[in-house]
Amino acid sequence: MLEAAEARRSAYLLSTEEASSCSEGQVREAPRTERQTQVPQQPQDFNERLTKTGRRSLSRSLSHSSADNPSSDPENSEDVPSLRNKEQWNSNGSNDFCIRNIHKAAFGRREIEMAEQEMPALMILRKAAQGEKPLAGARIVGCTHITAHTAVLIETLTVLGAQCRWAACNIYSIQNEVAAALAEGGLSVFAWKGESEDDYFWCIDSCVNVEGWEPNMILDDGGDMTHWIYKKYPQLFKNVRGIVEESVTGVHRLYQLYKTGKLCGPAINVNESIVKQKFDNYYCCKESILDGLKRTTDVTLSGKRVVICGYGEVGKGCCAALKGLGAIVYVTEIDPICALQACMDGFQLVRLNEVIKLVDIVITCTGNKNVVMREHMERMKNGCIVCNMGHSNTEIDVAGLMTPDLTWRPVRKHVNHILWPDGKILILLAEGRLLNLSCSTVPIYVLSITATTQALALIELFNAPEGRYKQDIYMLPKKMDEYVASLHIQSFDAHLTELTDEQAKYISVNKNGPFKPSYYRY
Ligand code: NAD
Repeated sequence: MLEAAEARRSAYLLSTEEASSCSEGQVREAPRTERQTQVPQQPQDFNERLTKTGRRSLSRSLSHSSADNPSSDPENSEDVPSLRNKEQWNSNGSNDFCIRNIHKAAFGRREIEMAEQEMPALMILRKAAQGEKPLAGARIVGCTHITAHTAVLIETLTVLGAQCRWAACNIYSIQNEVAAALAEGGLSVFAWKGESEDDYFWCIDSCVNVEGWEPNMILDDGGDMTHWIYKKYPQLFKNVRGIVEESVTGVHRLYQLYKTGKLCGPAINVNESIVKQKFDNYYCCKESILDGLKRTTDVTLSGKRVVICGYGEVGKGCCAALKGLGAIVYVTEIDPICALQACMDGFQLVRLNEVIKLVDIVITCTGNKNVVMREHMERMKNGCIVCNMGHSNTEIDVAGLMTPDLTWRPVRKHVNHILWPDGKILILLAEGRLLNLSCSTVPIYVLSITATTQALALIELFNAPEGRYKQDIYMLPKKMDEYVASLHIQSFDAHLTELTDEQAKYISVNKNGPFKPSYYRY
C-alpha cells in the first residue's frame, strides 16, 4: 500500500496542464453572508501583550462563574481569565506561545498520536516527503480549530518543511492539552479554550505581529486571519503566495474581497473540493450531531420532532443520523433543488413557522444569518432544544435572548436554560456556536480527508510557477481530489478496479484519471 503511494510521491506537484483545470471554480457566484464575529472596529493596541484585563466576551459573562458550572475539571473550565501575561516555557526554553498549561503537553501528545492513527494520508505524505520538502521556505500563518486532528496537519506541514504560527478559529473547540503539546513541540501557538473575543483577536495578532517573521502562506478557517491581515497589516500580502480557506463562511468572505477588487493574492477554496463536500461536511456531521446532542442533554431522539434548517451537506448528514434513530425530521430550505432532495429523501419540507410550536429540537445548518429569531423562540414549546451546526454563531438570534425579561441559567458546560416569564424553558446549546465542535468530538478520519486537501492546496500554491495563479479564487483540480481519496481508501484494504486501455478509450478518460469530467456531480 505504502509503496504504491510512494511511487506517486510527487503526485502532489501538478503539471502545467493539470493545473490549468484549477480555475474551474473561480466564477462560481457565492451567496452573501455575514459573520457575527467581527474584527474589532476600534483601533486597539495589540502590541501590548501583557495587558491584564481582556474584556470578557458577552457570551461568557452570561455563563456566570465556574462555581455555577457542574464541570469540576478546572483545567477544562472555560471561565478562564486572560492568559496574555502568563509566562511559560517549553523544555527547549522557548516562550513564543500562549496557551493554557504547558504541563499538559504529554497528555496532548497522546491525543495527537491517537489522531495520527486515523489520518493515514497525512502520514503517507510525511513519509513520502523524506528528502523532499515541498514546503521548505514556507512561512504559514494558520487559524483553524485547535484539535488533535489539526495538530497532525500542522505537524505534517512542519515535516514538509514549513515554519508555522497558529491561532484558533473558534474559542470553544480548542483542546488545551493539544495546544500544550504543539507548544512543547516548538510551534508558536496562541489559543486557549474559552478565550474572550478580545483575546481571540490578540492571539491572531500574535501570529502575525512578529519582528523578523512574515508569513508567505495563510491557512484559514472562517476568514478571520485573512481579514485581520487585510485590515491591520495589508503590506504583508506582498509576500503572500496564497491563501487556503476551508469553510463556507471564509470562502464567502474571500468572494466579497474578490468582488470589490481587494483580494490580494491567489486563494484556494478547499470547502468546495469534492472530497471535503462529500466526506467532511456530510460524514462529520452525520457522525457527530448525535454525540453533541447526547453529551449536552442526554435527550432520547427516537420519536422526537426535529426541524433542520438547511439541506446542504451538513443538513443532509444531520437528517440522516436523526432519521436513523427514529426521529421525525422536518426540513426548511430556500433552494428548490436541495428542497426537492429533502422531499425525495423522505423528509417533510416546511417553513419554520409551520412547525415551530411542535418541534422538540431545532438545528440550524445554513451558513446564513438570522434563521432562528426571537419571535420563533417565543413560540417554541417548553423544553425545546435549540442549537447550530453551521460555522458561525449568526444563525440563531442569541442576542435577542439577552433581554431583562429572560433569565439565563447555566446547567452544564455549553448548556443554558433560558427561562421565560411564564415558566417556559428553552435549552440553548453552545450559545449558538457550532454544536459538534464545541460539545462533542468529531470523527478524525473524515477530517483527515480535508486536512490532506489543505496540505496539498498549500503545496500547490507554494510551488506554483509565477503566473499560474492570479488574484482569484480557485478550486483544486479533480485529479487532486482523486489523489486524496486514493490515499484514504488504502486504509480500508480496498482494491480499485483499473481501466483497460479499451475501456478508457471508450469512455474518453485518461487511464490514470481524472476519471470524471469537471461538471460531474457526485
Ligand atoms: P451548503 O451551502 O451545502 O448548505 C447550506 C444550505 O442552507 C443550502 O442548501 C442553502 O440553500 C440553505 N439555506 C441558506 N439559507 C437558508 C435559510 N434561511 N433557511 C433554510 N435554508 C437555508 O453548506 P454546508 O456544507 O451544508 O455547510 C453549512 C454550514 O455548516 C456552513 O456554515 C459550514 O461552514 C458549516 N459546516 C459545519 C461543519 C460542522 O462540523 N459543524 C462541517 C462543515 C461545514
